[in-house]
Amino acid sequence: MKYALLADTYEVVEKTTKRLEMRDLLVDLFKKTPPEIIDKVVYLTLGELYPPFVGIEVGIAEKMALKSIAIASGASDEQVVKAFKEKGDIGLVAEELLQSRAQAALFREPLTVEQVYEILDRIARASGPGSYEEKIKSFASLLADATPKEARYLGRTVTKRLRLGIADMTVLDALAIAFAGGVEYRVEIERAYNLSSDLGHVARTLAEGGMEAIHEFKITIGKPIRPQLAERLASLEEILDKLGGIGSAEYKYDGLRLQGHIREGSVMLFSRRLENLTNQFPDVCKALVEGVKAREAVVDGECVPVDPDTGELLPFQVVARRRGRKYGIEEAMREVPVVLFLFDLLYLDGNDLTAAPYIERRKMLEQIIEESDKLRLAKYIVSSDKREIERYFEKAVAEGTEGLILKSPSSVYEAGKRGFAWIKWKRSYRSEMADTVDLVAVGAFAGRGKRAGTYGALLMAAYDPETDSFKTVCKLGSGFTDEDLAKLPEIFKPHMFDHKHPRVDSTMEADFWFVPTKVLEVIGDEITLSPLHTCGLDVIKEGSGLAIRFPRLIRFREDRTPEDATTVGEIIEMYERQLKHIR
Ligand code: ATP
Repeated sequence: MKYALLADTYEVVEKTTKRLEMRDLLVDLFKKTPPEIIDKVVYLTLGELYPPFVGIEVGIAEKMALKSIAIASGASDEQVVKAFKEKGDIGLVAEELLQSRAQAALFREPLTVEQVYEILDRIARASGPGSYEEKIKSFASLLADATPKEARYLGRTVTKRLRLGIADMTVLDALAIAFAGGVEYRVEIERAYNLSSDLGHVARTLAEGGMEAIHEFKITIGKPIRPQLAERLASLEEILDKLGGIGSAEYKYDGLRLQGHIREGSVMLFSRRLENLTNQFPDVCKALVEGVKAREAVVDGECVPVDPDTGELLPFQVVARRRGRKYGIEEAMREVPVVLFLFDLLYLDGNDLTAAPYIERRKMLEQIIEESDKLRLAKYIVSSDKREIERYFEKAVAEGTEGLILKSPSSVYEAGKRGFAWIKWKRSYRSEMADTVDLVAVGAFAGRGKRAGTYGALLMAAYDPETDSFKTVCKLGSGFTDEDLAKLPEIFKPHMFDHKHPRVDSTMEADFWFVPTKVLEVIGDEITLSPLHTCGLDVIKEGSGLAIRFPRLIRFREDRTPEDATTVGEIIEMYERQLKHIR
């Protein structure tokens, strides 16, 4: 398959302003792709070589890429650097400088997707002495065989700047249309994705084996299952109502979600964002090897820091705060002893348990776990008695947790879903907007005065899973230190987009638009009606959306994807809860 086909598609995708057009372009591309390489086409289109949990990233530093461009084009280093200063885009620099050699490329064999993938993979894997030069040389040789347009996208891919902003859901829709006959098959295909977190693998399974293969799709040890997430409700009455009168009330530990894959004495750990954290928590791996009595298992749990002196649980923010706001939770936890609290069992010795009722999974978990200092079972009671659950909530909080998660005892494991089978009930719900929200930066406004040269505010949005789009809910300009502020343009540079991204729904005109990527945790004073924002537009009142008043930054949430952000539904829910408080 010619790489030119990918480059042509990317060029059109970049110009579309509509999500459905983007999807249809992918449908065309997938239909033209031989099934045996569709996994590679999917990864490349997402700007990757593998699913994220594999941890092998395409990518070389800008400086190296510029060097390769110089070699391939025959331009001097100075010319290349100057062109980069002017254009700020490696892809455009490669395209322009290779124009002069375009004639020569016409006489070469066209680049194939297979070749491109192989060379990018070799570049990604090269390490050790000599790898610096080797990467530059390999990329230069790839460019030398490329047309200028191909060079544009190769340059962006290799520097991790492809930024087409194609969502996983758009890929799944396109796969459903291309190979199953219609978008209505998305749900079943999405299940396979939720069980493997590997879009390329799902695409290939479908393209080669049709829907039959998708129905038989199995959990694989080593491929993370997308975690189930919880909804929130304000009062215990509402929660019990939603759960049909009875719930398994579990401590809600405040730490880092970890999924453990155990096979015959070896362990892999995955974060909520599906990164492979195995090497960062050797102590947790050891605890799982020693404490899980099974040949193969996938367990779900929360890893929590403990005070080494008292053995008490520490809320992870406390640990993170000691090292400043931006300090990542994983780094913070690596420094303090941790305990893993297990609450679910998804796979056991060849059997997928995700379709079994929660309470059965939990009982099976109890049978295979031998508790230790580092490995515990999450505490819980099953109850329909409101008073008993309230007392249990207070006990949970007193023991250093955030509160409870109430789970429906009969519910299946809904991989990748935020639903009402799990409902969190936290301490902070007692006052309105005491809870933070996670919002996605979709644009920015130029700063003035003291903020000239940087942004005055970011345009923030909530996620709408129904339309797979981002709906604006506030302008965020507070809570940043001067140092944070100065860095914003740099942080967002890789995510700049020419126009409003097709997945962004905004009536405000920002000065800069971004591919929805970065998630920021925000707290505000309250949620109000607002004609300026599109979040919840027309839901509460015609012509009005919802806005967060006086929003302040808490921190960047590098552990969140944009689709993990607070949803429009949750914001509406929070607004309604506030009204109840006022009444
Ligand atoms: P919050 O921001 O409210 O802490 P969150 O957005 O990080 O929550 P949610 O899906 O809203 O994530 O809450 C569920 C999270 O709570 C899980 O992802 C997990 O990390 C954590 N957790 C702690 N204890 C449990 C438990 N017993 N069962 C399930 N999840 C738990």
